[in-house]
Amino acid sequence: MKPASFPVVALAGGVGGAKLAEGLAQVIQPEDLTIIVNTGDDFEHLGLTICPDLDTVCYTLAGLANPATGWGRASETWQALETIGELGGPTWFRLGDRDLGLHLERTRRKRQGQPLSQITAHLCRAWNIGAAVLPMSDDSVPTWVYTTEGELPFQEYFVRRQCRPQVTGFRFGNVEQAHPAPGVVEALQRAKLVVICPSNPWVSIDPILAVPGIRETLPSACAVAVSPIIGGKAVKGPAAKMYAELGIQPSALAVAHHYGDLLAGFIVDKVDAEQAGEIQTSGRHVLVTDTLMTTAQDRARLAKEVIAFGSSFSR
Ligand code: GDP
Repeated sequence: MKPASFPVVALAGGVGGAKLAEGLAQVIQPEDLTIIVNTGDDFEHLGLTICPDLDTVCYTLAGLANPATGWGRASETWQALETIGELGGPTWFRLGDRDLGLHLERTRRKRQGQPLSQITAHLCRAWNIGAAVLPMSDDSVPTWVYTTEGELPFQEYFVRRQCRPQVTGFRFGNVEQAHPAPGVVEALQRAKLVVICPSNPWVSIDPILAVPGIRETLPSACAVAVSPIIGGKAVKGPAAKMYAELGIQPSALAVAHHYGDLLAGFIVDKVDAEQAGEIQTSGRHVLVTDTLMTTAQDRARLAKEVIAFGSSFSR
């Protein structure tokens, strides 16, 4: 039984974001949960519109995700990609057969003129996802990664080059002209709690916050973040490497500084308990707990703790 709840908004990237989003979905009434998802890593590939973070969140909430990778679908097959390879086409971005079905249908709908938010709402209905999953924007806001080897489109850096190039900065293309997707601002205005999931601050959360209107509307007095850095390391992906390459020692404290005044509360892993004092000195509430989500029970437990923590000081 889910307890009586109140409006909660989560900001999420892919794998780390999806895990906590799924925990929140286990403990909050669906009508009270809105998940705003990064679309900065969306791209066109093989003529198709691919939205990796949105798809990771939707597959996870629908119970369709591959538990081993955290992205893509369970019980996937790879025959289409094999054929593409046989014919000399690009296979560096792994797209399974089931996954391709989604990209084909999304691209078909886009070509008919449907905005991404409408397409996403449709697939959530089809997959019985109760929470509202919203792209941060219906406008294209592609993330570019500045590296010592030049400026790279995000997936070129992330997948093709496997995050090897040394990062010097980021750019969110066209973001000044972008608008929040329908429902984003309204959800933030209604929220009694905003949860910044343990996603990559640089390339999953910053693009969302860069869309004009989102940071401005976000109610800091009831916003909390979960650190994606545990013991100086990312659980997965390049977040710690990015901090180090940008000259910042990766830590929960660095993430807390990253978000600055945006937050009233911050959640650190118990292995980083000694950093709690310094995070608190900036006037922020701090919760120290186990933040590693390995099982579905871990996700629900962390989600409950995040809600109880946020409720203890929010509006
Ligand atoms: P991506 O777009 O697929 O890279 O996904 P995200 O940005 O949402 O997630 C990547 C971040 O999630 C990394 O910085 C990881 O350290 C973090 N992460 C993944 N799993 C966990 C977890 O179980 N607990 C915490 N605290 N962070 C996690």
